[in-house]
Order: sequence, then C-alpha cells, then structure tokens
Amino acid sequence: MSSDAEYDVDLFVIGAGSGGVRAARMAAAAGARVAIAEDRYLGGTCVNVGCVPKKLYSYAAHFHDSFDDAAGFGWHLDSPATFDWPTLRDNKTSEIKRLNGIYQRMLEGAGVTLFNARARVANAHTVTLTTADGEVNVSAEKILLATGGWPWVPEFPGSDLALNSNQVFDLDTFPKRFLVLGGGYIAVEFASIFNGLGSETHLIYRGDLLLKGFDQEVREFTRDEMAKKGVNLHFSTNIARIEQLPEGSLKVELTTGEILEVDAVLSATGRKANITGLGIESLGIALNDEGKLSVNERYETQVPSILALGDLTAGPELTPVALAEAMQLVDIHFHKKAPRPLDYATIPTAVFCHPNIGTVGLSEEAARDEFPKIRVYRTDFRAMKHTLSGSQERMLMKLIVDDASDVVVGAHMVGEEAGELIQGIAIAVRAGLTKEDFDRTIGIHPTGAEEFVTMRTPSRY
Ligand SMILES: Cc1cc2nc3c(=O)[nH]c(=O)nc-3n(C[C@H](O)[C@H](O)[C@H](O)COP(=O)(O)OP(=O)(O)OC[C@H]3O[C@@H](n4cnc5c(N)ncnc54)[C@H](O)[C@@H]3O)c2cc1C
Repeated sequence: MSSDAEYDVDLFVIGAGSGGVRAARMAAAAGARVAIAEDRYLGGTCVNVGCVPKKLYSYAAHFHDSFDDAAGFGWHLDSPATFDWPTLRDNKTSEIKRLNGIYQRMLEGAGVTLFNARARVANAHTVTLTTADGEVNVSAEKILLATGGWPWVPEFPGSDLALNSNQVFDLDTFPKRFLVLGGGYIAVEFASIFNGLGSETHLIYRGDLLLKGFDQEVREFTRDEMAKKGVNLHFSTNIARIEQLPEGSLKVELTTGEILEVDAVLSATGRKANITGLGIESLGIALNDEGKLSVNERYETQVPSILALGDLTAGPELTPVALAEAMQLVDIHFHKKAPRPLDYATIPTAVFCHPNIGTVGLSEEAARDEFPKIRVYRTDFRAMKHTLSGSQERMLMKLIVDDASDVVVGAHMVGEEAGELIQGIAIAVRAGLTKEDFDRTIGIHPTGAEEFVTMRTPSRY
C-alpha cells in the first residue's frame, strides 16, 4: 500500500468478527482510511461457530417438543417424526455462507480494504500480513486488536478425542449418544440441543450446579427442567479418561468411577484470549490476571496506538457487547467524542437451553450483598399452552427490588422465548424504573409475560 500520508491507513483492524467489522465500517463511515485482516471467516465466532449456528440448531431441537405438544391440540403426524442431521447441518452451512457474503459486501461497500490473511503486530504502527505471496507490511496510525477468543480444552488422558465448540457444528454423523463436559452457558445449550435432536445426552460438570454466576433459583429451576426433558446431569464429577473403542465409540470414565459409552464428547470448558502469534508480547502488552487484555476507557492498551475490544478484553463475552464497544471506540477516536463508558451492570443475556433463560441485572444473591433490604417477587407456573399439550414444562419469573428505592434491580425468567421477553424488561431495568412503574403497566392477556406486571405480593425479603 502506498500513500502520501504518514501511514498507509488510519486504522488497521485485526480480526473481522463482531467487534472488528463494526469498528472498521463505522470508522470508514467517519472518513477514516481503514483496512482489516481476517484469516479464517468473515463475521467471526458469532456468525460461523457461535450465536448463529447455535440458535439455528436450537430451533431445530425445539421441534421435538412441538411435535409432542401438537397432539393435545388435535394434530396428528401420520408417522413418527424423524430427524435428518445432514439436512440441518448443510442448510446451516449455506446460511452462514450467505452471511459471510453479506459481511464482505458491507466491508467493501464501506470502502474498507480487506486482506484474507493472518496478521501480526510488528511494532506500534505496523501490521505484518502473511499471504500466499509472502509477507506484506502495512503501517497504521492506530491498530485495533479484535481477535476474540478460542476454545480451551483441559488435558486428561484421551482429551484429544474430545471436540471443541468450533468442531461440533459440522459432525459427519449424528451422535446417538452425546456427552458435554462443562457447566457454563455453552455447555447447557449444547446439552439441550443434542437432547432435543434425539441424542441420549449426558452433561458432566465438576461443580455442584450448572451456570455459576446466575441467580441460584434460576440455576436450580433450569437443572430440574433440563432433567425433566431427559438430559442426564452428572455434577461433582469430571472426566478421568476417554478411550476409543474398536468400533469407534468412546468409553468415558468419570472420576467417580462411572463409565459411559457415547459417540461424541464436547468439551465446553471455557475460552481463552486468541493472541497466538499476534506478536504483542514483544511490545510489552500482556494478559492480565483474568487472561484478558487491559484497556483504558479509550480502549487503548499499554501501547496507546494499539486498541483492543470484544472477547479479548474484560466484560461479558457477547456479540452486542463487542458491537457497543466498537461504536464507542469509533466515537472516541474518529468523532473525537468524550468516552461514555458502557453500563456493564444491566446487560441482558439469554441462555438458549430448553427452556430458555433470560436475565438482566442482579441475581437475588448479588442484590442481597449490595442492598440492606430487598423484596423478591417470584412465580412459577405451567404455561396455558401446556394445559392442552400435556407437557409438564414450567416457567419461572422473578423480580428483585431494592426495598429502599423501590427500583427493580434484577429480572429473571426461565421459559419459552425468555430471551425475546427479557429484552423489553431490560429497557425498564436499565432505565431504573421502580416496582410501582411495573405495577402501573397494564398486562397483555393471556400471556405468560403479564406475570411481570401482576406480581403484587413479595415472596420473601
Ligand atoms: C458456541 C458459542 C455460542 C455463542 N453464543 C452467543 C450468543 O448466543 N449471543 C451472544 O451475544 N454471544 C454469543 N457468543 C459469543 C460471541 O460469539 C462473541 O462474544 C463475539 O463473537 C466476540 O466478538 P469479537 O469481535 O470479540 O471476536 P470474534 O467474533 O471471535 O472475531 C475474531 C476474529 O478474528 C480473527 N482472527 C484471530 N486472530 C487473527 C489474526 N492473527 N489475523 C487475522 N484474523 C484473526 C478470527 O478468525 C475471528 O474471525 C457465543 C460464542 C460461542 C463460542
């Protein structure tokens, strides 16, 4: 690249994932000369091996319950429903290819120069690209690291036989027996997905309950609902070893001595910052105690011309967080606005296990630590739909209120489409509305959601 300016570009973005693409496009729209490097797939983790394929598979898995539920409403399938894995997998792949194309066109349309290459930082203002034709250096006034995370699998005998979340989407054959190691949101989502698609499913977790950090009652309720749907939950244990049997299946020995025979093992045991070969150590940029890159409120690392955002940095590992950070970063560096730090305390999130979880704000436990007195409003019930479907699935809804100010500081739900529902509640929680505001809101009848505005008596203080 050549230019009369001091640097080839104003901004060089490494990684065309959620945060990188948004930052590149918005900076280009602000008039900056922008280049971006991506060595794997446009759209990053979310589009290719995260949110998008996972949600498509979750939809597929929900049909299982829908077919069962339909009979009570008079619908009968002439023969039992069957599931074809290659159809789902290949349709998912076509959709992702379509999205990859959209990302490419968005970048080109914004005037961003795209390099299909692995990038590393050579110095505070130079990026080295490794291409088929050799190495190319591009100088940049600012470099943005947006390389995201990478799955981490613990080492144990036979751990190389376990899949990580990047690999599980494209299995050649559908695993009739499936085992997930881990208790975080990715683990519970995949356990629900494969269980719903028809696998005999086991979840192995070394802790005593899944979804650490979520509201305790939500965790217990989810455990019970997942177990009701047939997921075999094994807590306070771990995998001791995995062995491949001659006919191809996997013999998994747990630390409790129990032996399970399955067709696939997924290790959903966490993610680490994706900095391999990025060259930042030589510049004095190191990971902090949490294994993340530290940035200031301007998203600058210890080297001010090198910025970072998204999963590489602290904060929830969520696509909308990476997008919001990208827009903040562009406002600060290319629109010269003062930093307006994001409100990380009221970021809503969903877990697409079955049934779904939707949550925003503080858990009951965190609220008890933070406020002298709280009020907890909670209800659980069988949704109207299931009076005829015969399903025993229940729904949990919960509001946490700071007693002194009456402000709703947390809202939690386990139930169908919880993510869709909690998004609206999140606006109210983010805005700091009171329980009285909730009470004065008229419900929508008949819905499950109306419970959020009709719970009047505290269940406990
Ligand atoms: C299984 C799974 C499910 C998820 N589900 C959800 C969900 O439902 N909702 C949600 O909000 N979030 C979800 N996430 C998290 C979400 O995907 C991430 O938070 C988001 O993608 C982070 O964006 P990012 O820009 O930081 O990095 P990424 O999207 O990971 O992008 C980083 C990009 O950088 C590229 N790269 C890395 N190193 C280099 C290099 N040296 N040179 C060139 N390119 C490089 C990578 O190939 C990648 O494309 C999920 C994640 C996983 C793994």
